[in-house]
Amino acid sequence: DRTAPLLQVKDLQAWYGESHILHGVSFDVREGEVVTLLGRNGAGKTTTMKSIMGIVGQRAGSVQFEGQELIDKASNQIARTGIAFCPEERGIFASLSVEENLTLPPVVRPGGLSLEQIFELFPNLKERLGSSQGTKLSGGEQQMLAIGRILRTGARLLLLDEPTEGLAPVIIQQIGKTIRALKQQGFTILLVEQNFRFASTVADRYYVMEHGRVIDKFSNAELEANVDKLHEYLGV
Ligand code: ATP
Repeated sequence: DRTAPLLQVKDLQAWYGESHILHGVSFDVREGEVVTLLGRNGAGKTTTMKSIMGIVGQRAGSVQFEGQELIDKASNQIARTGIAFCPEERGIFASLSVEENLTLPPVVRPGGLSLEQIFELFPNLKERLGSSQGTKLSGGEQQMLAIGRILRTGARLLLLDEPTEGLAPVIIQQIGKTIRALKQQGFTILLVEQNFRFASTVADRYYVMEHGRVIDKFSNAELEANVDKLHEYLGV
């Protein structure tokens, strides 16, 4: 069914220990879309991504990917279905070279990018290939490495948690260009952002989260008409 969403999240709940963080989050992402979760600090955006990946304490509800229910699966099984998570802290191994970081994540499905294709997207990384250790890279290079390393795996759905955080405007523009290129290559992307001005350069649709719930949604075409409301939601 080509019209069925690639990812369908329904009434997702999550807990860290005794803390009930997500109170029934529902949204969907169709194949080839870039969908952004917006919301203030602590709204539950990162927890939503971690819940999709199965790396929170406890979760309930439904997460369907390609029609397959993931809510009862372990995180390693979820990763093998073809969903990749690029965390806010980037998950790069500081003691490994750029090449080792790129080749470490296991390939889970056919169709992943080759190193050459990754370097076409991120020419800077190629220059850094052998010599540098992960942490000697600039913040922007680290972010590109963090995205690059999940592109080899064959994952078709990429969860990117605040990829622009702490980066200079010129690097943010490069990240935006990369996300648009990935979309053109057929990747589906779920993005967490606090910066909706950046998000508007890449996203097709938005969901707004507050206190562990989705409180609103917009398409990109509806964004301008809702800017005042968004300022209020995001406290900017
Ligand atoms: P941010 O941009 O700050 O990451 P967010 O919308 O992604 O914001 P989450 O990180 O999902 O928000 O946090 C949601 C709530 O869960 C917050 O109240 C946070 O304090 C809490 N929380 C997050 N991680 C943990 C954890 N490991 N243990 C306990 N509580 C947590």
